[in-house]
Amino acid sequence: MDHFKYSNGQLFAEDVAVADIISHVGTPTYIYSRGTLTTHYQKLAQAFAPLNPTICYSIKSCGNLAILRVLSELGSGFDVVSGGELFRALQAGGKPSGIVFAGVGKTDAEINEALDAKILLFNIESEAEFWNIDRICGDRKQSARAALRVNPDVASAGTHQKTLTGKKETKFGVDIDRAAAFYRQAAKARHLALSGLHLHIGSPIKTTQPYVDTINKALTLIDELAREGIVIDTLDIGGGYAAFYEGNEAPSAADYAAAIVPLLRGRKLKIILEPGRSISCNAGILVSRVTYTKQGGSKHFVIADAAMNDLIRPTLYESYHFIWPVNPGADAEPPNRGSELRIPGDQKVDVVGPVCESGDYLAKDRYLPVVKRGDLLAVFSAGAYGFAMSSQYNARPRAAEVMVNGKNWTVIRRRETYQDLVAAEL
Ligand SMILES: *Cc1c(COP(=O)(O)O)cnc(C)c1O
Repeated sequence: MDHFKYSNGQLFAEDVAVADIISHVGTPTYIYSRGTLTTHYQKLAQAFAPLNPTICYSIKSCGNLAILRVLSELGSGFDVVSGGELFRALQAGGKPSGIVFAGVGKTDAEINEALDAKILLFNIESEAEFWNIDRICGDRKQSARAALRVNPDVASAGTHQKTLTGKKETKFGVDIDRAAAFYRQAAKARHLALSGLHLHIGSPIKTTQPYVDTINKALTLIDELAREGIVIDTLDIGGGYAAFYEGNEAPSAADYAAAIVPLLRGRKLKIILEPGRSISCNAGILVSRVTYTKQGGSKHFVIADAAMNDLIRPTLYESYHFIWPVNPGADAEPPNRGSELRIPGDQKVDVVGPVCESGDYLAKDRYLPVVKRGDLLAVFSAGAYGFAMSSQYNARPRAAEVMVNGKNWTVIRRRETYQDLVAAEL
């Protein structure tokens, strides 16, 4: 699952004591494990190797340049959703031939940036967008390739409302009933070739069945179009592969591949995958220090120095992140990361931050060993949509980011300062 392990009562990131890093860098800090990133990428690449796919890591899940460089060196391409993410991908040495660009509202400026870079594929989300990109290509006397994002209208059980994207009524893509007509129209375009089909049904998808249903629907459509002479040569099956939040509930890369590979093997299709959280989620923890503890009615509160501005997932998605002290002592090491974990003497607490919102919490009604002011807490499975979604709300400088590699660690983003808060203001 990851390279964050307890030994002799303290938490290690690979071979480095987390408390040691924090004594230099302070809190709150995101700590990433290079080994975990690498392992997750390689497991996915190996599992899907029979399809020889292009893997486009989803930058929006965690986009620090150092992380993108690690993945780029492993051979990963990138899934970008903005001009800014395209900039990050290129800065990190990403090859344009491995970049796919999704998003419902690509502006003309962003489209031009992508055409300047000569990316692999535009993932098209509407008719208006398709014809706009075709027009811009014409103005530039340049051709480009596109895939149509199709909503297969499948149920993806267990996925939060805010991350469901596969239904007809989503703002993303076009619904599958209208897709064939779209392809027929697009065949008349002169500069933008619509030769791909893109799927991304939401995240995290905790079972393999929604992928199977979706891909089967897509293949039926592809075969129908082929009979009309419209050739689809690229199938982008998106991301959403689950990570480990509450123990071992997620299918592994091998499980996903076991369900998906047989459907696509032998097909003359270039396959693209867009994993985000399945690579970055477990590769990162957020470390915070307890500022105070207090009681309110029957409730115990642990007030941490990390807040919703650092990690908004609990508030935004009601998501679960396992939290445990960094130095619990040998008799309070967590045997696993399940949500029902109990140890003698523990206490039910809410872990909250200092931001002035009642929605500012990291955990609710959670059993933790008794902690006191000054203790360090690790928030696990925080690598994806953690730092990437952080803000300066309440004028809180953003956290530092550190990457560990074996016995070594480096700061990959320094902690923001008060000057950073006002740097862009005139
Ligand atoms: C967010 C996103 C992904 C990655 O989702 P994960 O759950 O992080 O794997 C992939 N493709 C598209 C189009 C996305 O918007």
